[in-house]
Amino acid sequence: MNRNLTDGLNFISKLTWKRFWNATQVLASYYFSKFTGKVHHWGLPISISFEPTTSCNLRCPECPSGLRSFTRPTGMLSDEMFRRSIDELADTLTYLIFYFQGEPYLHPQFLELVQYAASKKIYTATSTNAHYLSDVQAKKQ
Ligand code: SF4
Repeated sequence: MNRNLTDGLNFISKLTWKRFWNATQVLASYYFSKFTGKVHHWGLPISISFEPTTSCNLRCPECPSGLRSFTRPTGMLSDEMFRRSIDELADTLTYLIFYFQGEPYLHPQFLELVQYAASKKIYTATSTNAHYLSDVQAKKQ
């Protein structure tokens, strides 16, 4: 089967009525605010972004992680904070973006954290430089 179709079906399979209703509220507040010219806010985040780590094994010249030029500390996402946030948002959260700057697979519990989000049926996406990917690692769920 086409991979885009498989991925799309995977995403749709994570939608619940509560998540759908939450997304509707967020979209409605956007259009209502635009229409009235005043800020109206309903609903909770549809999507959230977590950075597993700010560290990276590479030194890409256009990246703050590669340049080691962060003004914030280099470190690893706290397991406890991640799980608590997911617990609080899981009912209405549809999409977890699990990367920003840094190589996610350097986080020692990265796949366990992905698994935790998956156990709450949250669609999760990441990005990696693939240095730490093996066949087995790539297929882990
Ligand atoms: S985080 Fe990505 S872009 Fe930045 S140094 Fe690492 S591999 Fe390069």
